[in-house]
Parts: sequence; structure tokens; C-alpha cells
Amino acid sequence: MEKKQDELRKQREELLKDLDGMGEFRRGSINVFYRRCGKPRCVCNQEGHPGHGPQTTLTLKEKGKTLARNLPTPEAVRVVSEQIDNHNQFKAWGKKWLKLNEEMADCSLGDVLRGAEEDELGLREKKRRKRSSRRSGGKSKG
Ligand SMILES: [Zn+2]
Repeated sequence: MEKKQDELRKQREELLKDLDGMGEFRRGSINVFYRRCGKPRCVCNQEGHPGHGPQTTLTLKEKGKTLARNLPTPEAVRVVSEQIDNHNQFKAWGKKWLKLNEEMADCSLGDVLRGAEEDELGLREKKRRKRSSRRSGGKSKG
């Protein structure tokens, strides 16, 4: 068990290094679209015209609203797509972090339970019993 905990601690350090080396990030996605300005005499109102654009935006849904920010230059698009990539990296990191922490938490729980009746660590699937064992009143036995 000690060895396992040492191994987990090592993994923890590695993960923290990964986090430290991670670039800045943001949520959202990049979208390209064409739009009609709505002026009746504009060229975009003619049949077959795709509309003004292409326009590239950073789009983000927040609290039910869609927020958009114009990305007018290729450089802006490059920077933002890198930031979004970093966010994906961060999300993957978060999953690893969670898993590691749960393993560490299991080890700690194992330490606490050692000597108790629990012979097996980890969560077990709760079996559903067909017969419901009713516990009446405040006295719960076993
Ligand atoms: Zn127009």
C-alpha cells in the first residue's frame, strides 16, 4: 500500500508540472459565417449572394445566451484557436486529476478502514434487493 501511495504522489507531481506548463486557455469555439446586413439595396440581398463575409468569430454559450466576438485578423484566429486547444488539454488534464485524486482518496480511506471488517477496498456496486428490507422507526440494526 505504501508503494502505491508513493506511486500516486509521483503521478501527482507529474500532473502538476503538466498544469504548470499549460498555456492560457479559454472556452468557446470558432465559427465562420456569412451574414446579410438587411439593407434592401445591398448586394447581399441579391439572389445567390452568400452574404457578407466570411466573418470569423469566437462563440461562447453562457447562461443560455450566445456570446460572439469578432476575430478580424488571421493572427487573432490563430491565437484564439490555440487558446481553445489549450482548454481541451486542460479538460483532459482535469479528468486525470480527478481519477488520481480518487485513487489517493481510496488509499486514505483504506488506511482508515484497515483493521475494520472491510476486507475489500473500493466502491462496490450496490446490489438491488427485490425484497425491500424495511427499517421501521429509528432503530436501524445492521
Ligand atoms: Zn449587405
